[in-house]
Amino acid sequence: MPIARRPLGPEDLDLEILFCGICHSDLHQARNEWHNTLYPCVPGHEIVGRVSAVGPQVSKFAPGDLVGVGCLVDSCRTCSSCQDHEEQFCEQGAVFTYNGPDHHLGGHTFGGYSKSLVVHQDFALRIRHTDRLEAVAPLLCAGITTYSPLKRWGCGPGQHVGIVGLGGLGHMAVKIARAMGAQVTLFTSSPSKIAEAQRLGASEVVLSSDPAAMQALRGRLDLLLDTVSADHDVNAYLPLVRRHGAMVVVGAPENPLSVASFSLLFGAKTLAGSLIGGIAETQEMLDFCATHGLVAEVEVIRMEDVNQAYERLLKNDVKFRFVIDMQAWSGHDLENQESGAADRATQA
Ligand code: NAP
Ligand code: ZN
Ligand code: ZN
Repeated sequence: MPIARRPLGPEDLDLEILFCGICHSDLHQARNEWHNTLYPCVPGHEIVGRVSAVGPQVSKFAPGDLVGVGCLVDSCRTCSSCQDHEEQFCEQGAVFTYNGPDHHLGGHTFGGYSKSLVVHQDFALRIRHTDRLEAVAPLLCAGITTYSPLKRWGCGPGQHVGIVGLGGLGHMAVKIARAMGAQVTLFTSSPSKIAEAQRLGASEVVLSSDPAAMQALRGRLDLLLDTVSADHDVNAYLPLVRRHGAMVVVGAPENPLSVASFSLLFGAKTLAGSLIGGIAETQEMLDFCATHGLVAEVEVIRMEDVNQAYERLLKNDVKFRFVIDMQAWSGHDLENQESGAADRATQA
């Protein structure tokens, strides 16, 4: 399907998209599980690309640079959230990479399952990894979504951190929490993931279906990060958090969570949430991952196989992130000859 990208503005970058990760949020949105999807929907917010052109006032990037684009492509820059570098909470409404309002062309934004993207330089991230770019792409959402709450809630040496769910987010959480210096316990519903969780850095792996193992960890965790994408019982996990400790939810299942008050009252626990991260913190996360040699575990697919990948993701059958090789796609950019460069169209 050809989609329009806006003309290159003075501070815009034109990107040739190299790789785009498949986040479970893409699946939720394609299936309208959050009940707000605008169709046609072109998902994709874990983008690594190469700058192919820059507007005349671009100062941060040059043609040929590798850049990342995550979940955000614009915000007002002036509200208190933007001033505090939390553009994801922009009070005028952050513009998400897809399914957001397109203030340039009208309609809604289209994401990274496409050949090219035009983005303001303020929402492009510098990539310092020098290779395995396909494995860098998932950092743009899975990386920042786990890095941000881990940092905010004090993950570090001497802390015992639990991660629930070993998917795209969960496996990055294990790696990042370990790199931050914490002791990591991974909770999984999948016996087949135990060995891999240990390889990724978890010092202990608990099957959530094992009551004795769950019981043994009561009150032991300083912090628990819940990345589960489907219905599950948070009341089974809150008792594992220590007195005054926190459980932070980043998973976004279709249905509401059900929380028993007493799960929070005893031990005065905090149940919190977190949404991706601001642009500055996303850059910090990318630099942290480059310094520590962290990338995602990926299965690279062709665009033609995306429906099959979605079926497998739905069945929890991926270790641990699908990434689309956009360059391998036979689709090609379509130049709109009638309006010249003004209305470039791209295949999605
Ligand atoms: P994913 O790769 O599909 O991983 C989700 C994991 O949840 C699975 O690997 C599985 O881990 C566990 N799980 C799945 N079904 C389960 C079930 N029925 N019961 C218990 N555990 C189950 O998804 P993801 O891309 O990491 O995304 C995870 C969630 O975070 C999604 O809801 C997504 O929309 C959301 N998200 C939120 C943000 C944010 O800013 N807050 C950003 C990105 C994504 P085990 O096999 O180990 O049990
Ligand atoms: Zn995502
Ligand atoms: Zn704002």
